[in-house]
Amino acid sequence: KHIPQHILYVDGVTKSFDGFKALNDLSFVVKPGELRAIIGPNGAGKTTMMDVITGKLKPDVGDVFFRDSVDLTKHDEADIANMGIGRKFQKPTVIESLTVFENLELALAGNRGVFKALFHKLSGEQNRRIDEVIELVGLAEKRHELGGALSHGQKQWLEIGMLLNQEPDLLLVDEPAAGMTDHETELTAKLLKEISGKRSVVVVEHDMEFIKALDCPVTVLHEGHVLAEGTLEQVQANEQVIEVYLGR
Ligand code: ADP
Repeated sequence: KHIPQHILYVDGVTKSFDGFKALNDLSFVVKPGELRAIIGPNGAGKTTMMDVITGKLKPDVGDVFFRDSVDLTKHDEADIANMGIGRKFQKPTVIESLTVFENLELALAGNRGVFKALFHKLSGEQNRRIDEVIELVGLAEKRHELGGALSHGQKQWLEIGMLLNQEPDLLLVDEPAAGMTDHETELTAKLLKEISGKRSVVVVEHDMEFIKALDCPVTVLHEGHVLAEGTLEQVQANEQVIEVYLGR
């Protein structure tokens, strides 16, 4: 498999709502296997950025390249998801009346539909893949429990597992630690670190403790633009960042 220089290259993206630039000439890159945190105050443009990458919104200006070659702005949301870009929203889509295993089974089937997915006999390979994912997200002991019986943190991990079933090259994760206990937050950081390497992971987050635990490169967004990039220590020492973001 050809290894691209960049998994993601957001190139000069501007997106306005009624003349207000939510994204203003935004550019940044994500390298293969990289774990990157994107932080910024409310209204910085983080959600709009995710929406543009995943094809939910079209930018007014600029391009978004995936694996150096595909311009995502030319594709729709469903196409982009199928290309190997997984997006985890804050609110999990775990089905409460299905078991952990069944939820993963369903995710593996993708859009083949619930009925077909659950009554279609899995191949040995598919079973192995689900087992691997269950193990990775730390739910081996919960495999036969209903989604509805899981804790908030466990639901989030299951959701990440469901996305991993699609084998994405790029995983976009929106505030995974929101509402989690300290221990769950720690485990989530560990999980995302483990997932990266083989895949690229972009985490939008504003919990500083969590970002510290991720121990990864950070991009600071402000007014739809990159204000600073570097390690957490570097961006925390940046004058402009202190002024707009940390100077609370
Ligand atoms: P963040 O996720 O960093 O909090 P957003 O991307 O949600 O930031 O929003 C960036 C700015 O764009 C905000 O000022 C927000 O009010 C504005 N915005 C976002 N989406 C819309 C929309 N659909 N219509 C009008 N304004 C919007």
